Amino acid sequence: MIQPIYVYDQQILVQKCLDIPHDLPILPNLILDLWDTMRNAQGCGLSAPQIGLPYNVFVIDSQNAFQAIGKGFRKRYFDTEDKGIQEIFINPQLLEVSSKMWKAEEGCLSLPSLIKEVSRPWLIKISYYNEQLEHHVQEFSGLTARMILHELDHTKGILLINHMGVFTKKYLYFKLKSIKKGRVKVSYPISTR
Ligand SMILES: [Zn+2]
Repeated sequence: MIQPIYVYDQQILVQKCLDIPHDLPILPNLILDLWDTMRNAQGCGLSAPQIGLPYNVFVIDSQNAFQAIGKGFRKRYFDTEDKGIQEIFINPQLLEVSSKMWKAEEGCLSLPSLIKEVSRPWLIKISYYNEQLEHHVQEFSGLTARMILHELDHTKGILLINHMGVFTKKYLYFKLKSIKKGRVKVSYPISTR
């Protein structure tokens, strides 16, 4: 079911999430809601706190981006052989990151209309459980790794604006204020309670 997306600056977005017990009855619905809500908002990733649940769970779709961008961009955002993923990450843990960093612009469904260039590692190794609750330890690179790191940030209460310097934050003061008041027009339901 499509859920309203929590936007800046609600408490749920700045708190550290908990691991979800595998037998928690809400888990199957949470997974479905994350997919439905993300797709409805035309996003490429969505975490549980963004729909109001403080758990370490998120979904990623980098396959859609891979298919939507041209050859030149694919080279910049994806390793050869990498065609993106559609995956659910349950109780993920970041194990390793590469020293190789790269910069790209990011947006966030909880900070509508805001775009920020962020520097992140190119390659990561992560442990997580998938939808069938099977344990995986896997490496991801490029845009997929970036999306995973962005959602991992959410489960730790870190937002895109935490990657900004004080000056940028001051500059964005009025934009953040209008997001907070629900004055930014979005094409998906939001919660500003
Ligand atoms: Zn986000």
